[in-house]
Amino acid sequence: MTDLTSLTLAEAKTGLANKSFTSLELTEAHLAAMEQARALNAYVLETPDQARTMAKDADARLAKGEAGNLEGVPLGIKDLFATKGVRLTACSKILDDFKPPYESTVTSQLWRDGAVMLGKLNNDEFAMGSSNETSAFGPVVNPWRREGSDARLVPGGSSGGSASAVAAGLCFGATGTDTGGSIRQPAAFTGIVGLKPTYGRCSRWGIVAFASSLDQAGPFARTVRDTAILMRSMAGHDPKDTTSVDLPVPDYEGALGRSVKGMKIGIPKEYRIGGMSAEIEKLWAQGAEWLKAAGAELVEISLPHTKYALPAYYVVAPAEASSNLARYDGVRYGARVDGRNIVEMYENTRAAGFGPEVRRRIMIGTYVLSAGYYDAYYLRAQKVRTLIKQDFEEVFAQGVNAILTPATPSAAFGIGEKGKADPIEMYLNDIFTVTVNMAGLPGIAVPAGKDAQGLPLGLQLIGRPFDEETLFSLGDVIEQSAGRFKPKRWW
Ligand code: GLN
Repeated sequence: MTDLTSLTLAEAKTGLANKSFTSLELTEAHLAAMEQARALNAYVLETPDQARTMAKDADARLAKGEAGNLEGVPLGIKDLFATKGVRLTACSKILDDFKPPYESTVTSQLWRDGAVMLGKLNNDEFAMGSSNETSAFGPVVNPWRREGSDARLVPGGSSGGSASAVAAGLCFGATGTDTGGSIRQPAAFTGIVGLKPTYGRCSRWGIVAFASSLDQAGPFARTVRDTAILMRSMAGHDPKDTTSVDLPVPDYEGALGRSVKGMKIGIPKEYRIGGMSAEIEKLWAQGAEWLKAAGAELVEISLPHTKYALPAYYVVAPAEASSNLARYDGVRYGARVDGRNIVEMYENTRAAGFGPEVRRRIMIGTYVLSAGYYDAYYLRAQKVRTLIKQDFEEVFAQGVNAILTPATPSAAFGIGEKGKADPIEMYLNDIFTVTVNMAGLPGIAVPAGKDAQGLPLGLQLIGRPFDEETLFSLGDVIEQSAGRFKPKRWW
């Protein structure tokens, strides 16, 4: 029998419908694979009992012909999503053993459609990071290795556990969140597909907040089709999130195979950054060629405020984080370290509970929001954000349907290799992705090639607001041309 964990999500759906296997069999295969892959540290909590119960329920519905969009499909959930009664940590010590008495809207929609939960996935603490090295549970290991080397590589971040688990066959798909690149960058580092939807497309309710005006949930999967299938269940209006948009959810899968003839694809000249590696240049040109061969028209465009996106992001995101994280005070949730008075209790709890990167963000955020500096930093960053958004609006007004860029400036790097002496070295990972969050647009990362050491590289497509469908159509073209990427198993 074929290895059930190496099927695509779409193949799993077909097999379940044809009764080639049951959801319980799929679930057992994944639980076994998870057990054998602990070296990757992708899951911070496995929920086998819950998984088996959900799988049996799904099998019963399948038998009755009542299958939902994801009926019986085992998934992993980033540990930033509240799932009722299951420990939620955001991979921080401060939440301790917190078990939310509520379910996030996105996960409730996955269960509504029949999906099975395998467990909670590792991520950077409060989703702050680009390598999954800031997690209180330790780093996640990328299933990919450089050819001829056994050095452990990062899977990217902050959704590193999601990316690693999907790439290694430890679930058919996973949820992620993307504030500055946390879905697209790890997808690119692990050779899988990741979509950051338009701001407002997926509900943020029940997801631990990092920077509320930038955060957006989205899917990871091994193929563009699987990502589209997941997206259909994750998207939708939610009155509990005031920024959620009331638009019908299309059948995203239907966008695959749709003609891209005549589409105008923008190539932004500002993304040709100094020192860009020849490999990334080549990948980008190759991607443009593939789209051209499919009938799209490539046009050079200008997004003049691109170079200010990263510095502006590192003002806006920490500012919002400092406000969002004020709630972790030893009173409402999780851990508490006592003190002689309440202020000391707050201080002791927060000093013990937050890791260094989170503390850095809180300090930066508090500083840029403080009375004397608000205008100089926060207000100015907001103005820059408007300019970045206008750059995109102008290009779309000129008839551009989507924009093609590299997803990351490099392939996956080694654990411990980056950002130790200078955090900016780590922040630069998001140079191609943060602009998209600043403008609230959808972006997809699709694997497109390999570097000289055999590591996967991804391309990014940026779309018009709420036009995820075009990203799926174009992503499909890239996937058809580039083929799929699978790491050699060593764990
Ligand atoms: N790497 C970026 C940061 O550390 C983005 C993280 C994210 O998208 N959650 O802020």
